[in-house]
Amino acid sequence: MPELPEVETTCRGIAPHITGRTVNRIVVRNRNLRWPVTRRLEQAITGETIESVRRRAKYLLMKTGSGTLILHLGMSGSLRIVNAIVPPEKHDHVDLVFPHYKTLRFTDPRRFGSLHWTTRDPMQHKLLRDLGVEPLGDELNGEYLYAASRGRRVDVKQFIMNSHIVVGIGNIYASESLYMAGINPRRAAGRISRAKYELLAEVIKEVLTDSISAGGTTLRDFVNDEGKPGYFRFHLNVYGRAGEPCISCQVPIREIRQGQRSTFYCPKCQH
Ligand SMILES: [Zn+2]
Repeated sequence: MPELPEVETTCRGIAPHITGRTVNRIVVRNRNLRWPVTRRLEQAITGETIESVRRRAKYLLMKTGSGTLILHLGMSGSLRIVNAIVPPEKHDHVDLVFPHYKTLRFTDPRRFGSLHWTTRDPMQHKLLRDLGVEPLGDELNGEYLYAASRGRRVDVKQFIMNSHIVVGIGNIYASESLYMAGINPRRAAGRISRAKYELLAEVIKEVLTDSISAGGTTLRDFVNDEGKPGYFRFHLNVYGRAGEPCISCQVPIREIRQGQRSTFYCPKCQH
């Protein structure tokens, strides 16, 4: 599933190709995405110039003079830049065609992705308005996590994965960050010190930034007609390593279930 680093890399990858360009036409081959694609979209976006491409949580926002296209990659979606003459394949559901046949092509085998058009402030859109802070910005810091967690009994792992608190911390990133901060994922969020939250906020940024850097090397995939942009791997200390020795203390990594998701941690280094 595309996580925040993949979405950020996608944003950086497509922005230079489409910013300042005018949408000559849009081709929607399948409207049955996670939510039906509105039939007003074609009229709304044709002839519009993309002024900016940015990311909020795992949404890509393509702003034009009259509105914003809000795109989510869902479970299996990807975007790439192709020439419009490249024949679409089965799961290529949407094309945004720019001058000289330059085309932003949306592919999504499982169709959990989505496309919305809004003429209002996109941050007030129902999909975006209740989201928590961005993990890479200054708003995520130890003080914020400390204050937001007071009185909460929920496990700290589920607390940091709650998108109303902070967005974009997927399962792998949560396990890895808690390991690096030395925090047991089962501890109650409300019982963790301010100092530990300072450290946790720092390592969350580090883990996500490392992953985005790892993805930077795959940027050329966005203009590769042949391949699909792959989701990149970064070095994992605990995730998927159940039973293997902790790289720091050699004690076997443990796997537990939290909220129907796998959690990996070191019982000795994390408390
Ligand atoms: Zn350990």
